[in-house]
Amino acid sequence: MAEKVIIIGSGPAAWAAAIYAARAELKPLVIEGAITEENRLAGTLPLGQLALTTEVENFPGFPAGDMESYLNSSIEESRRRLMPPHGKHGVSGPELMELMRQQAVNFGTRIVTEDIVDVAFDAHPFKLVASDGATHETLAVIVATGARANYLGLESEERFKNRGVSACAVCDGALPRFRNKPLVVVGGGDSAVEEADYLTKFASTVYMVHRRDQLRASKIMAKRAEDNPKIEILWNCVLDEVVGNDKDGVTGVRLKSTVGEPDLEQEAAGVFLAIGHTPNTAFLKGKLELNAKKYIVLTAAARTYTSVEGVFAAGDVADDYYRQAITAAGTGCMAALDAERWLATKGL
Ligand code: NAP
Repeated sequence: MAEKVIIIGSGPAAWAAAIYAARAELKPLVIEGAITEENRLAGTLPLGQLALTTEVENFPGFPAGDMESYLNSSIEESRRRLMPPHGKHGVSGPELMELMRQQAVNFGTRIVTEDIVDVAFDAHPFKLVASDGATHETLAVIVATGARANYLGLESEERFKNRGVSACAVCDGALPRFRNKPLVVVGGGDSAVEEADYLTKFASTVYMVHRRDQLRASKIMAKRAEDNPKIEILWNCVLDEVVGNDKDGVTGVRLKSTVGEPDLEQEAAGVFLAIGHTPNTAFLKGKLELNAKKYIVLTAAARTYTSVEGVFAAGDVADDYYRQAITAAGTGCMAALDAERWLATKGL
């Protein structure tokens, strides 16, 4: 029998949608993504981008404080055991995601730990094909697959992925290869500052490589970079090549000036990319309207409708503007309400 609603994804949009759909007795099935090396390298493991961050200081309801006993009593013991220790700062990205996931489970959400690799939206019920080969039938779909970090696409970058090149400081920063060594972060946005700041825990110096003479980061984050004595910003240059060898991995970078200055070489044991994101919509190509940047197009103002009736979208997969945990969660709630009302209208 077809499901009433399937939610694809496992970030704040997906769990908010699941909590609302479960409470509306739609018995949602969440397809949270597969745990594979390919997804790890791409930054698309279950629980999404928040699981790759540290402190979340701007999600309402989590001021600084010690949540240890709350986390211990709220989250299933088997999953709590695998989480990093609580840092007494309020809430971390992984903690927030585990709490949301648990809240969805508490209301009866079922979870499949696979990717969706293909969809058929041209007949109803819709069909979703999972990475284990299973086909799931459903009356409504909420797509909340989020976005992932971009790489520059350099050959040398690809060569040294996992050997010094990364797009996730929180995942990889503590590796021995980076300890007390100079590191490079590429980008000038909030993510770049966040990564650079985090990496100063381990690095001797963190060089931020930015293509302009001004950061894109918000004032408070820019100040964080300026105030950190271990961060040095290399203005007006781009990463031209990651330098290294098979034995040691990354040993440095070659930088090209964007204002006609001579090229620069910088010794570095690691290169962290923080240059924006790409939505996880490859499986929707030709099935749902996407914009030029491959984000899902929402077809009505202040609604989560997509180009296919009965398919809704929430979170970063349809948003390249706000991209916040709280906005993603908000649109997840909206998508569940839209799906519930659409099913009721159709008598499904
Ligand atoms: P972003 O704001 O789009 O910044 C991307 C940065 O990468 C920009 O500085 C951009 O340079 C640079 N860049 C892009 N393509 C490049 C290329 N090919 N070569 C060299 N540099 C390139 O992305 P983000 O930092 O990931 O932030 C995304 C959203 O998440 C923002 O809304 C941000 O506020 C939010 N966020 C917030 C926090 C926080 O508040 N703690 C933390 C992380 C993210 P240009 O500046 O020249 O375009």
